[in-house]
Amino acid sequence: MLNGKLALVTGSTSGIGLGIARALGRQGADLVLNGFGDPADIAKLQAELASTLGIKVHYESADLTRPADIDAMMARITAAHGSVDILVNNAGIQHVAPVEHFPVDRWDAVIALNLSSAFHTTRCAIPGMRARNWGRIINIASAHGLVASAEKAAYVAAKHGIVGLTKVVALETAKTGITCNAICPGWVLTALVQKQIDARAQQAGISVEEAKLALLGEKQPSLEFVTPEQLGELAVFLCSPAANQVRGAAWSVDGGWTAQ
Ligand code: NAD
Repeated sequence: MLNGKLALVTGSTSGIGLGIARALGRQGADLVLNGFGDPADIAKLQAELASTLGIKVHYESADLTRPADIDAMMARITAAHGSVDILVNNAGIQHVAPVEHFPVDRWDAVIALNLSSAFHTTRCAIPGMRARNWGRIINIASAHGLVASAEKAAYVAAKHGIVGLTKVVALETAKTGITCNAICPGWVLTALVQKQIDARAQQAGISVEEAKLALLGEKQPSLEFVTPEQLGELAVFLCSPAANQVRGAAWSVDGGWTAQ
């Protein structure tokens, strides 16, 4: 379905981004991976995806907290591989602290990566999408793009911000073949969440399994984690013609978290 399309998935060396990259690749899209990690592991991942899916898999190591590096990355991709047809803004980090103790440098980093990087990739990708009159921009927001939790000031602000950015871009492209939507996952068991589970287990003196259940029990009525594969399949749907009129949505996949 996506043969001949080029998909850039930011933060796709692990977790949700990798799940989405795999799902798009399974549909035939060529991939540009991005994110941190051991260069040998990343080269192995590239080779595995290329050979099992029969697609081209490129890699960009840009640190997306730096706007100039994003501009350079987007220019390199266009020059080397053509314009990006599918842009998935997924790279993100978390920091947990009460607002009065929130380290200023962590605030700046979370806003730079979880919000501003999506603005920069989007502004760079849209001209090429307009030229072809087709494009998909998928922003990985969060349940925290719709509701708040204590001690996550930067994350919640950035995720609410990206839901707003999604709506603006959807309106500005409404009369074109470009759509822009946000996906709002609940808890997904990735490195980002494992850190929070480990911290909870240590603080409460409970096992990691007990901490997992406590984390889910607090927010996610299904008591089950969302999976990167499920989010990947939703991204595939958003890329399909059936989703041509899905514009500016903030689509919850959260086990009932925000229904409460
Ligand atoms: P993860 O830690 O597994 O993956 C994050 C990815 O971002 C990695 O590839 C990492 O290398 C990359 N990255 C980190 N800093 C970067 C930088 N400066 N420049 C470029 N890449 C960078 O986390 P995840 O859970 O898969 O999170 C992915 C996205 O999903 C994030 O935006 C996160 O906020 C969102 N999300 C996660 C959950 C969850 O429960 N895990 C829930 C809702 C939303």
